[in-house]
Amino acid sequence: MTAPAPFVTTGPDGKQLVPGGSVYRPPSEADSLLLQVTVGCSHNRCTYCAMYRDKRFALRPQAEIEALLDTYAGRQPAASRRVFLCDGDALIVPQARLVAILQAIRQRLPWVRRVATYGDCRSILRKSEQELRQLAELGLGMVYHGVETGDDESMAAIVKGSTRAEVIAAADRLRAAGILHSVIVLLGIGGVDGSERHARQTASLLSRIDPPFVGALTVTPVPGTPLWDAEQSGAFCVPDPWRLLEELRTLVADADLSNCQFSSNHASNYLPLRARLPVDRAAMLAAIDSVLARRDKGLLKPEWLRGL
Ligand code: SF4
Repeated sequence: MTAPAPFVTTGPDGKQLVPGGSVYRPPSEADSLLLQVTVGCSHNRCTYCAMYRDKRFALRPQAEIEALLDTYAGRQPAASRRVFLCDGDALIVPQARLVAILQAIRQRLPWVRRVATYGDCRSILRKSEQELRQLAELGLGMVYHGVETGDDESMAAIVKGSTRAEVIAAADRLRAAGILHSVIVLLGIGGVDGSERHARQTASLLSRIDPPFVGALTVTPVPGTPLWDAEQSGAFCVPDPWRLLEELRTLVADADLSNCQFSSNHASNYLPLRARLPVDRAAMLAAIDSVLARRDKGLLKPEWLRGL
């Protein structure tokens, strides 16, 4: 779902300040201060995800978080105006704890202008609109949400732990609370057989929830995951690059978005694009169509340059 962020936060003695191993963040949070408030993911069951399989989910003690913020306050220039809360679904942290964390960020890093986090339907819908609004008032400005697909059948197959109806409810609740919803979808997650259904259902879900940000990534089976095993046994096949591009085309052509930054520039994708929809729709479709028409692999990102 996201690109790995190299772990660089070390104390004056050179030791890691965060005990939870590798951390991940969205590419657009590359300049943000990473603050690990949980270790791992409380769901940790999505069949394609290897990010936190080696971690047992835990809330990080508040005292540790505050000590880390004190260290950041002493070491970081006021350059980091954004904070990203890690790990997998930090929004799952109980309301009182999240409020205390956001207050501690305000107090110790007063120059921070926006806090963002990963969330999913479970963590978003556990909070009332009023609670989300309280978090927004304390600086939580964006939730990155790995929706992956708008197709209920595919969602169940990947054990996402949510349904299309829940995604709609979560999107509505974030919007009502004034928190930006950045939606991640996974090209190819329906496999070859479900490819068209996944693309059409995802476009229609995007039309319904109308998020301000959409990032399309490409599914990449990783050793140690159930999806890898399914691929090895032949039960799941990643569509070929041309079919993946057709999925992308369906999203761009069919999603009725009012004002969305749409990106497919993640390392996993074969054709990196970034544009604003709907204004750039025609140009984006022309770029995709010209590659689809020529079917020249030289126009795609080479496999060795692709990554998670
Ligand atoms: S919710 Fe996100 S972090 Fe957790 S298992 Fe699923 S994809 Fe991985």
